[in-house]
Amino acid sequence: MTVPFLSLREANAPYMDELKAAASRVIESGWYILGEELNSFEREFADYCGSLFCIGVGNGLDALILTLRAYIALGRMSEGDEIIVPANTFIATILAITQNRLKPVLVEPDPRTFNIDAERVSRAIGPKTRAIMAVHLYGQLAAMPELAAIARARDILLIEDAAQAHGAMLGGVKAGAFGDAAAFSFFPTKNLGALGDAGAVLTNDDGLAERLRALRNYGSKVKYYHECEGINSRLDEIQAAMLRVKLKYIDDEIASRRRIAAAYLDGIKNPKIRLPFIAGDPATHVWHVFVVQCEQREALQRHLASRDIQTLIHYPVAPHLQKAYPDLHDLTLPVSERLHREVLSLPLGPTLQPEQVAKVIAACCEF
Ligand SMILES: *Cc1c(COP(=O)(O)O)cnc(C)c1O
Repeated sequence: MTVPFLSLREANAPYMDELKAAASRVIESGWYILGEELNSFEREFADYCGSLFCIGVGNGLDALILTLRAYIALGRMSEGDEIIVPANTFIATILAITQNRLKPVLVEPDPRTFNIDAERVSRAIGPKTRAIMAVHLYGQLAAMPELAAIARARDILLIEDAAQAHGAMLGGVKAGAFGDAAAFSFFPTKNLGALGDAGAVLTNDDGLAERLRALRNYGSKVKYYHECEGINSRLDEIQAAMLRVKLKYIDDEIASRRRIAAAYLDGIKNPKIRLPFIAGDPATHVWHVFVVQCEQREALQRHLASRDIQTLIHYPVAPHLQKAYPDLHDLTLPVSERLHREVLSLPLGPTLQPEQVAKVIAACCEF
């Protein structure tokens, strides 16, 4: 019995009939871009997250890039300004900053939660800081009440990269509803995944929402009249229709992920493997991935592979050490560098079977 890291075919199989019906509805409608499916999904996803506006875009990276671009257009930041961001994140968070000619200020995480350390955020704020970009890494909410208080006190923006945390919740508030704006990805492997690329921005700011609607569509509100320099990054009707089906089941899938994570937390007993830590309420974590730390990470990965258990590393190289960013190579970020050496993600998906979970637990215990 192989234990796949995540089988998208199996994950989407329970909804196959509904997905096909939704795809047929779009194909037969003859309307494929910026139509009723997207309008409906935007309303449904904004309602789900508890936000006023949702603007669908082509992918999660564009959601981040366009959010910053919209803030630049609205005069909230400009070239050379600093954005505080976790040192350990997926490269997209950093790309969004540098592609807008803003400067990423990398701040170390709390190694227990993997999320940006609020104390260090306070110390990193300077006269050029315009925003904190918080990432809810691996599905666990960052310290949002603390970060919101800091942002308010220092009069800077709080932006969420919520690409891994659809549905994560604290005190009844969901990921995406804490900040001034939030970017989501619906890449197929995310907790709310399309059957292709898709993304969205959430905000309660109508000025920002209006600017984003123009930016994603050639800077245009009225066809062929261009008020600003935009790009083409829209969420297709067919993907919006897929997402409307999947959104109905997201809470069930989160519950399955929590059951599997609880079984791992309870069952894996090995002093060589450090288990993930939930800082607060279990509702704050939606377990996009289950990440353990191990000093002999490569040996653990080989051991699991020898038992047909697939694992992944999120992520093998810290952003400041990537070849794409030679200017950042001089930074020393020991917490983040250690995490990138030691993290390993175990199989986790809504359709992982109890016997597969048991097999992963047994293999981890015997390592
Ligand atoms: C997936 C992801 C993104 C980018 O989303 P895409 O849709 O792949 O462009 C951004 N940030 C984080 C934290 C992600 O996990």
